[in-house]
Amino acid sequence: MKKSDLDQSRLLSPATLNNFLKEYALFDSLNILGTSVENRPIYSYSVGDGSKKILMWSQMHGNESTTTKALVDFWLYLKTPEAKQLRESCTFLMIPQLNPDGSDAYTRVNANGVDLNRDAIDLSQPESRVLRDVYEQFKPDYCFNLHGQRTIFAAGDTSIPATVSFLAPAADHDRTITTARELAMKLIVIANINLQAHITGAVGRYDDGFNINCVGDYFTAQNTPTVLFEAGHYPLDYKRVKTRKHIFNSLVVMADTIASNTIETIETAPYFEIPENKNHLRDIELYNLKKSPDGLSVFDNCMLIQFKEVKNGNDIDFIPEIVTESKGLAGMQRINAQEHKNLMNLYFDADNYEIENLTKTISLLSLHQFV
Ligand SMILES: [Zn+2]
Repeated sequence: MKKSDLDQSRLLSPATLNNFLKEYALFDSLNILGTSVENRPIYSYSVGDGSKKILMWSQMHGNESTTTKALVDFWLYLKTPEAKQLRESCTFLMIPQLNPDGSDAYTRVNANGVDLNRDAIDLSQPESRVLRDVYEQFKPDYCFNLHGQRTIFAAGDTSIPATVSFLAPAADHDRTITTARELAMKLIVIANINLQAHITGAVGRYDDGFNINCVGDYFTAQNTPTVLFEAGHYPLDYKRVKTRKHIFNSLVVMADTIASNTIETIETAPYFEIPENKNHLRDIELYNLKKSPDGLSVFDNCMLIQFKEVKNGNDIDFIPEIVTESKGLAGMQRINAQEHKNLMNLYFDADNYEIENLTKTISLLSLHQFV
């Protein structure tokens, strides 16, 4: 099993991950922190013995596997001679799948249907209590809260998908820039500088409205600098192979900054220059569509398609769905219908059977071109 084998599917079940870790002789290094609703172990691993403590967790939302793959890459990197300074300066405690049941089922929520990132105060779920316990025992200097985001998110008002987004969560309703929050902002600034060299204009910043039920907001309110990562979309990269590399690189850059004591030299102001995440993008825009028989165009002669991610066995299918309310939305991948013989003669009407034909056609197109 190669590292790239993890790219075969967006579904990363605990079984697949554990098989991978066994092959790399990493599985025996895992500790069991607790168990999930369905009694799956919640694993962690620890690398390094330095004084700066960094807690990282991924797949708190089970259908967000890209950052878990990057976290495994980071673990493998930490074992190399190149990472000696990191191991000596820092202690990394990492939880690759905080929500193993959701990771198996490809759901955002846990097996009780609860969003673990809205459970920071209630602690109603075993997975939430595992994270809180490890936070209180480990007493991290920094937290990395690793997530993935859908294709709908753009970096600002552009049509560029936000390949990576960040947030330094607020610590209170006034969004005060506390010392902890400022440190998280500085880490994001240095990561953004590095990312811009590779994915110019494709980094977004999340809204910082305060919600104490979100784990990042809660930890920031406890004065622990916490960085929210969102692994997003890169054009045509539905397996998120490229995004995985950008997340890995961001982890290395941030960890190096902490390890080398250079964080205080980074300015905070550029954090606010990162464009805000906007959610107006949809996967495909078909344009130059044939008009309906009465000569009127429907959907303004163009149509937006959004893929729905559906688990199918050990893989994820991307099922195209027509976006019926498209006002204010924009297509990421624009296709001229007149350049595809399967599309050029179709016309569209909300009551017309050809919509079904279109969905099938897009399915065929998407299999070859997009997924
Ligand atoms: Zn998430």
